[in-house]
Amino acid sequence: MDIFNRIFVCGSLVSLIACVPTVEAAEEPPTAPETKLAPNKISAETMAKWRAGVPSWYAPVEPFRIIGNEKNGIYFVGTEGLAMYFIPTDEGHIVLDGGMPDQGSYVAEAIRKLGYDPEDIAVLINSHAHLDHSGGLAELKELSGATVMASEGDRSALEGGFYLGSEQDTNLNAPPVKVNIPFSGGFSFEHGGVAMTAKVTPGHSRGCTSWTMNVEQDGKNHEVLFFCSATVAANRLVGPPQYEGIVADYRKTFAMTKDWKPDVFLSNHPQFFGFKAKREKLLAGDPLAFVGNEDFPKFIAKMAVDFETGLEKQSLKHNAIMSE
Ligand SMILES: [Zn+2]
Repeated sequence: MDIFNRIFVCGSLVSLIACVPTVEAAEEPPTAPETKLAPNKISAETMAKWRAGVPSWYAPVEPFRIIGNEKNGIYFVGTEGLAMYFIPTDEGHIVLDGGMPDQGSYVAEAIRKLGYDPEDIAVLINSHAHLDHSGGLAELKELSGATVMASEGDRSALEGGFYLGSEQDTNLNAPPVKVNIPFSGGFSFEHGGVAMTAKVTPGHSRGCTSWTMNVEQDGKNHEVLFFCSATVAANRLVGPPQYEGIVADYRKTFAMTKDWKPDVFLSNHPQFFGFKAKREKLLAGDPLAFVGNEDFPKFIAKMAVDFETGLEKQSLKHNAIMSE
């Protein structure tokens, strides 16, 4: 349980400020180089601190196909701590998430290792506008000229290169990336024979987006979910909240997702879906290693409990401060 809790506390980026003292802005003198930069500029020093503070986010994983065949498959192009996905098509490729601000080139290299050209990326999509998932998108867009599709709720943060509600914290900045096709609520697109559907599951970020698609394996069709996230992490839920309506958004997401039973549950932090064990199973020869429709229901039920616990903790703390 300890490990499980730790993963969820540390698995989302805001909490890393708490998890990783070396990233604490408060310890820097006010004249530290990064604090002088424009809000969306990221210094080499800041990135060096992230690299030292969260080594798992930078620990390389050999890219591989999670499920499907060469013509219709989903590939992992992430690291031990961050999941990015590559979906090749004959008409240009689809990439979900870009990793940290200095990881666009890592994703590009992983794609090359798989035998594809990252300049042929045609569509860039994002789970949410937090730097550990959106940071590399700008570099990938520059390299490929791909169309960026993202939710309206996260658009300001993507285009501004900030963490919504913590705009003053330059440690959380990401290179701004233009959203070419913004959407709200439900949204679908088809590209190169791949159909993907976005479902906005807000809370963890205002426009947190879960994606679904179908993939064939062993003569069967499997529904794949790329879940955004629903951890509280260091999101402020009370006084003043990270963004207006955040508590209602989390609850809306838990109500929306409680009956979801995808055949394949993937997400943006490998720890969320038992990545390591499943990958080992796959490498040992089981092509259905990532299939299991009980995994997401268990995960989301725990998320919902953790959210209410987190809300209670923050409310008690807030009330104590207010009554001082
Ligand atoms: Zn996040």
